[in-house]
Order: sequence, then C-alpha cells, then structure tokens
Amino acid sequence: MAHLVSIQHWIEGGEYQATNGRRGKVFNPATGQVVREVAFASEADVDRSVRAAKRALPAWRATTPLRRARVMQSYLALLKLHELKLAELASEEHGKTREDALGSVRRGIEVVEFACGIPQLLKGEHAANVGTGVDAYSLRQPVGVCVGITPFNFPAMVPMWMYPVAIACGNTFVLKPSEKVPSCSMMLARLFKEAGLPDGVFNVIHGDKVAVDSLLNHPDVSALSFVGSTPIAKYIYETGARNGKRVQALGGAKNHAVVMPDADLDFTAEALIGAGYGSAGERCMAISVVVAVGDVGDALVDRIARRARTLKTGPGSEPGMDMGPLVTREHCDKVRGYVDVGVTEGASLVVDGRSLQVPGHEDGFFLGPTLFDKVTPTMSIYRDEIFGPVLCVLRAPTLEAAIELINASRFANGTAIFTASGSSARIFEESIEVGMVGINVPIPVPMAFFSFGGWKNSLFGDLHMHGAEGIKFYTRTKAVTSRWPAGQTVSSSLVMPTHA
Ligand code: NAD
Repeated sequence: MAHLVSIQHWIEGGEYQATNGRRGKVFNPATGQVVREVAFASEADVDRSVRAAKRALPAWRATTPLRRARVMQSYLALLKLHELKLAELASEEHGKTREDALGSVRRGIEVVEFACGIPQLLKGEHAANVGTGVDAYSLRQPVGVCVGITPFNFPAMVPMWMYPVAIACGNTFVLKPSEKVPSCSMMLARLFKEAGLPDGVFNVIHGDKVAVDSLLNHPDVSALSFVGSTPIAKYIYETGARNGKRVQALGGAKNHAVVMPDADLDFTAEALIGAGYGSAGERCMAISVVVAVGDVGDALVDRIARRARTLKTGPGSEPGMDMGPLVTREHCDKVRGYVDVGVTEGASLVVDGRSLQVPGHEDGFFLGPTLFDKVTPTMSIYRDEIFGPVLCVLRAPTLEAAIELINASRFANGTAIFTASGSSARIFEESIEVGMVGINVPIPVPMAFFSFGGWKNSLFGDLHMHGAEGIKFYTRTKAVTSRWPAGQTVSSSLVMPTHA
C-alpha cells in the first residue's frame, strides 16, 4: 500500500505531532479505500491544545472587536478563494457530491460573514439615570476557552456554525472534528492563520472518545458546543454540565413533511426528492418522513417513486451525480439493515435501493434511493433515525392528526408543511413542537443571522447556534451600575436602595 498522509493536530498555529501512536483510518466512501490516516489525541495532547488556547486568551479578548472583525474579513476573503478545495475535501471524505459540498461550505462561510459584524453584535444595553446620578449598562464578555465537537456529515459547515462566532466574541477555541472527515478543519485552521489570527486562538485536535472525554473533563474549558447523534449529545450535555461548563448539544433528528391535499403535488414531490435523498439522506435536516394528509397519498407516492428511480447515484466527484455513497461500510450496512427490517415490519417497499450497482466502484458504500409507503408509527423505520436515503410515507386523516403525530416524536429538529392554504400553514407553525419550520420549504435551515437548533431530543441546552443565540452562548453578560459623585457626601444607609 502506498504511504498514507497522516493528519496531525493543529496547536498554537502549526501542526503538532501526537504523543502516542494511536490513529484512525480515513476512507474515500466511493472507492472503499483508505486515503489518509488521522492522529488520535491522548489526554496529554488535548491538555496541550487547551493550554495553548488559554495562553492566547488574554491578548485576544483584549483585541478590540473592530480588529477581530478585520481578521474575520481577511478570513472571509480567503475562504471564498478556497471554497472549491474545501468542497473537494468534504466530498472526498464524506462522499456527497461536490456541488452539494460546495453549497454547504458556502453556508458555513455565511457564518463568517455574520461574525464580521461583531462590533455591532456585541453592543450591550444602556440606561441613563436609573437612579439619581446613577447609570446602568450591560457588557457582553467572552466566556473563555470554548470547545466544538462536530459530526461527520458537514465537515466544514458545522464547525463553522461554532468557532467563527466564538472567536469573534473574543474567546479562544479547540475544535474536535469527526475523525471520519478530518481534512477540512485543518485547511480551515491554516487559512485562519494566513488571515492574521494569532497563534493559539484556534486549535484543532483529532480523535475519538479519549479526546472528547479529556475536553469534557478539562478544568480550563469553559463552554462546549456539540453536534452529533442524540445519545452522545445527551452524554456531552450531562457530563459538561456536571463539570460546570456551559453546553449546547445538538442531537439527531427525524424530520417530517406534511403534505396537504391542496398542495401543488409536482412542486412538492420535487422538493421532497431533494430533501429526502440529497447528501444520501445524511443531513440532520433531511426529510425522512412524509405525512400525506387526506387522500393525497397515492398520487404523491407515485410522483416521488417515479422521480426517485431517475436519480443518479455514484461517486460524488463525478459530474451529474445526484447522490453519493454513505460515509462508512458500517453505516451503509446499518441503513441497509433498516430497509430489511422495514420489509419485515410490513411496510410497502415502493423503491428498493439495495440492488444498486455502481460499475467500477464495487467496494464503495452505496445504497440507492429507497421509498417506503404505508409506514406506521410503531415501526422502527419510523421511530429511529436512519440517516440514509430512506424516505417513509405515512397517512393521516387530517392536519390535526398529522400535528399530533409529529408532536409525539422524541425528535424535533426540523419540519415542513406543503399547502396552498395560509390558514393551514398558520395552524401548523403555531402548534408544531419543532425548532425549525418550513412552509413550502422542505429544508428550513436558518440563515447565519438567525439561529439554528431543534427542540426535545434534538437539542440539549438552552441556546441555538449562530445568530443572536450564538452571540449569547459565547458571551457572559455583566450588568454595571455606576455613579460618579461630584463632591457630595452620601450618607450610609442600611435600607435597600430603590433609586427613586
Ligand atoms: P456521532 O454522535 O457519532 O459523533 C459526533 C462527534 O462525537 C464526533 O466528533 C465523534 O468523534 C464524537 N463521539 C462519537 N462517539 C462518542 C463517544 N462515545 N463519546 C464521546 N464522543 C463521541 O455523530 P455522527 O455519526 O458523526 O453524525 C451523525 C449524527 O449527527 C446524526 O445523528 C445527525 O442527525 C446528527 N447531526 C445533527 C445536527 C443538528 O444540527 N442537530 C447536525 C448534523 C448532524
């Protein structure tokens, strides 16, 4: 086997050789071949990265927001210049098509654009004369050393939901990206240095549970942002909170789209094809359940099935592909296993992706678009997050029944309604218990200047990512009450002041 590049950690502005020999394999899912290795951090490596971030903190938090914004602006220009390379790396290690990867890189870059406005975003409140000669105001100050732990499915975008905002707020950062897709984060770090970011402000540490646990338990880490599966999100939230850290932990999803009888079915079917099968269903905002209301089911399933059969599945690097492979062999086997279970559970398999062959890529982790109809709420293909190109259709008699079904789900990341009725849309947006809602928009991922996050088992913690909630998460508010006596003597009082 040819010599493999071994990806190292990024600490204090440069590559850092790991202290132990533990490492993982990075695959190209389209070929099934190992393309790189990645170092797995020990507790000592993690400690080194956190200490670097801690050392860089005083100078960075003292840097004016305007200067921090200027570094962000240089970073923004470099990211735009190198977006194709970032997309290529994301596509190679994840498997998604390059076009799709480029879209997600751009959505990440939009968070840097948002962070360029940090002088405006950090402004506090001020009130003069809250008492006689007394003013009150609030300051937003950085939290300290912040950590990001990210999943495999968006190698650039999800890390960029976190660190640009944290760093613009004056914090320093340690990123622990998914060990399955480590390359993008190294490029993101290198470009940030080139943009003028001082060494130690942004660090990247690779690895597995050892690295994550070391970060969770490190006394110098103040805040943790996590995105990944629900069981790990819950673990991160509980452990981090027990250790006194501020935590936001975004988990898994099972996103429903409700289709009303008055919806434009051609438009809806096209939207659902993109939302169900884009990125091979490996998106936390993918639609994995369609709830057909009234008698719309048969016509809708027919349209989705016809279109699903035309999708081209193959290597993400080849032009014209709609869908790439799944991220690993294990994950592909797991998703395939769910298709088997769905058949045993009695759902009707309308399109079966299991027989897909991609000539010349027999070792790739491919599964074609799969469509189940007549799924019921007790089936595991409905209850569990599958995270693959498997779309399940359920039927509901009314909008109220559809809402009741969705509100009973333990996941609550995103949802959508397709309808021509403003009244149905209004009832839906008002009563649905889900964090992000689309109206005739299948994947309602909020723009960088709004906040991203779900409810229930899709988010542990109180604040969503980027937008106003991101600024809140990465800052602590300090309320100041001030008086500047001009020579008058103030007699002591033991009475609670009322500032009248
Ligand atoms: P994952 O939970 O397996 O891994 C996420 C991160 O946690 C990785 O960095 C990984 O190294 C680490 N990790 C894994 N197991 C761990 C353990 N036992 N202890 C400590 N750390 C551990 O998730 P994934 O498979 O990389 O990503 C897919 C999942 O992420 C899906 O469930 C998807 O819905 C979810 N996701 C959610 C959102 C959202 O915004 N809610 C966005 C993207 C992905």
